[in-house]
Amino acid sequence: MNIPLIDLKAQYKSLEKDINKAVLEVLSSSEYIMGKQVKEFEEEFASCLKVRNAVSVANGTDALIIAMKALGIKEGDEVITTPFTFFSTAESISMVGAKPVFVNIDVNTFNIDCSKLINKITDKTKAILPVHLFGLPANMKEILSIAEDNGLYVIEDACQAIGAEYDGKKVGTLGDAACFSFFPTKNLSCAGDGGMIVTNKDDIADIARAIRAHGSGAYGKRAYNLMNDIHEELEVNNSESTVYNPTKYYN
Ligand SMILES: *Cc1c(COP(=O)(O)O)cnc(C)c1O
Repeated sequence: MNIPLIDLKAQYKSLEKDINKAVLEVLSSSEYIMGKQVKEFEEEFASCLKVRNAVSVANGTDALIIAMKALGIKEGDEVITTPFTFFSTAESISMVGAKPVFVNIDVNTFNIDCSKLINKITDKTKAILPVHLFGLPANMKEILSIAEDNGLYVIEDACQAIGAEYDGKKVGTLGDAACFSFFPTKNLSCAGDGGMIVTNKDDIADIARAIRAHGSGAYGKRAYNLMNDIHEELEVNNSESTVYNPTKYYN
């Protein structure tokens, strides 16, 4: 007998009626990008994790790239991460122009070995990017303390760990920002690609909201101001539509 590791058809069958109804609702609304359902999902996601902001994006890789861009990580910077992860973790660091610096894993957890982490910090290090591999949280207590002592950001790659808890909190709420993937084989998957950035820092969230929409609209203006240290009172409405938005082409 052949038992597949992941059986997406069985999952679909068990929820077929609900899924079909939801898909038909999207089709009849014709809001295919950032529509009502996506906004509701962002809100439910944020409240489930108990985090201030959830910003949906196209996939987990975009979540990592946009989160790092929102934190200002760029060429010449170094980001410390684990080599034992899906390819995308280190790839994303390269994609923003930074250099992935690998720290080996702890053989008991398969997650980054914190005792080896400190030796890899240089004056170019900007962030630590731990991965909660196979749903097991990395040693966040140690990672957060090293980051705080050295003035580094922490970006959690939680693409395989939706719902996992650490010290009574959901993973993804512990660092400066965190990334999730809804690739069909992940713990929480979708019919296609999907991803989410979460953060308790509103400025990071607003820059991420701007980057995902080409810097257009009020979020684009606010992100520009934040990144250039310009202080200006701006009305930004979290329900700003990327579908019917008069400032959509003001980038
Ligand atoms: C899947 C995964 C990603 C990338 O997510 P995509 O949605 O496939 O782009 C990044 N990091 C880890 C640990 C993953 O498992």
